[in-house]
Amino acid sequence: MVKLTTGIVYDDIFLEHRIGTHVESHERLVAIMELLNQKKLFESSNFKLIKPEKATLEQIRYVHEDSLIQEVKEVSELAKTTGHIQQLDMDTAVSAKTYEASLYSVGGNLKGIDEILAGNVNNVFAAVRPPGHHSNAYRCSGFCIFNNIAIATEYLFREKNIKRVAIIDWDCHHGNGTQDIFYNGSDHGDVVIFNSHQDGRTLYPGSGFINDIGSGKGEGKIINYPLPPRAADDTIMLYFDEIIEPICNQFKPEFILISAGFDTHWTDRLTNMGWTFQAPANYLGKIKTVADKFAEGRIQITLEGGYEIDKQAKAVYNCLQVLNNDKEKLITENPRKSDDQTLNYITKKLIPKLKEILNPYWNCFN
Ligand SMILES: [Zn+2]
Repeated sequence: MVKLTTGIVYDDIFLEHRIGTHVESHERLVAIMELLNQKKLFESSNFKLIKPEKATLEQIRYVHEDSLIQEVKEVSELAKTTGHIQQLDMDTAVSAKTYEASLYSVGGNLKGIDEILAGNVNNVFAAVRPPGHHSNAYRCSGFCIFNNIAIATEYLFREKNIKRVAIIDWDCHHGNGTQDIFYNGSDHGDVVIFNSHQDGRTLYPGSGFINDIGSGKGEGKIINYPLPPRAADDTIMLYFDEIIEPICNQFKPEFILISAGFDTHWTDRLTNMGWTFQAPANYLGKIKTVADKFAEGRIQITLEGGYEIDKQAKAVYNCLQVLNNDKEKLITENPRKSDDQTLNYITKKLIPKLKEILNPYWNCFN
């Protein structure tokens, strides 16, 4: 295999979005960095630490309204003056440093893109927080502040002359904010969103159904894959083989951005999915073949959710090994398979129905 350099975006500022006993805790990143250090990743020339810079307000405004930006800033200031954690909504908490950390979280994603396009690294994992995929243009929600991946997409279009971006969101929760932002497409480029998640009838935020396909310029470019509870590793591979790969062969993405949540693990406390901690890496291995074919290998992963911190750390480590072409180093647990009822539903109902819905927009399902 070709030797690659994989960038890892990280800075301690991401720990300063410190929101008490909230499940989206700074300990998530601490555990990831501890494992990577224990495995001596940063001592290897195969990996490069990338320090983030702040995104500018103009860049945040690519997808967010001023009122949202102002609210995050003011509520962070309130947390500072009162010395107490504040809430943007029931789920989404803010500390004194949340606004600053959020600017760096976005900026880290943009810096990763710079490093890839400059040829300094082949691909990137952005170990950032706060996460972003539930925030839309005007509202922060679901533990998320600024929508990192949506801003990264617009950055590619507006500042980097990239025309076609595929977003793949494998967090267990539907990436409703990203879907909202690009529901009518983008004025500056072409974006397709592949979103797999636990069925919205059984999990927050209750959206992401197969009939939601976008409209206007975005029609046919939102591709939701809602999975029943306990669906295991095999179901995500079917999504790639049956839907993602054929569409990407037609769409030919120039850059792939991944919203990576690790809350699909079968033990995760917030969800009911059935993945192992090697499943995201194995799925990434397939995604990488598309990136190699059309996008000169350009993949950037950004961290979203994941609440069993030891499993998440292993899953992230595994993804880094796949990005770095070193699959034999994966940490694995016992394989898990979906039950027959689930597989029947996926292969006989969900996938055929999804193909029927997408058929008018893509000619690869005939
Ligand atoms: Zn999630």
